[in-house]
Amino acid sequence: MTTDAARHDIGRQRHEDATSRESRRRLEHEREVRLSQVAAIERTPQYVTDEVMLAQLDTARSALEEVEAALRRMNDGTYGLCDACQAPIPAGRLEILPHARFCVTCQRRRR
Ligand SMILES: [Zn+2]
Repeated sequence: MTTDAARHDIGRQRHEDATSRESRRRLEHEREVRLSQVAAIERTPQYVTDEVMLAQLDTARSALEEVEAALRRMNDGTYGLCDACQAPIPAGRLEILPHARFCVTCQRRRR
């Protein structure tokens, strides 16, 4: 690695630290929201036969899974790296989508 590349890496590291602190805060908030959504639906006895509520429960549960997976990646230090190509996901993308698992290129390829 050249000195220039090393300097660039340090700058990027600092920015990523700030981004991931903000992402963690947002992910934790999202987890709370989704958990209370799931709990609220499950507290409603008729949800088991209500298609709308079942669909909402499904959405809330998959969102919760995404958020929890992102928080796990933060704990193992793989947060912000694309799951497919391992390239760093641009901070701007993580700001919009804190639970993003893929870079834009890989995400497009999966569709
Ligand atoms: Zn990728």
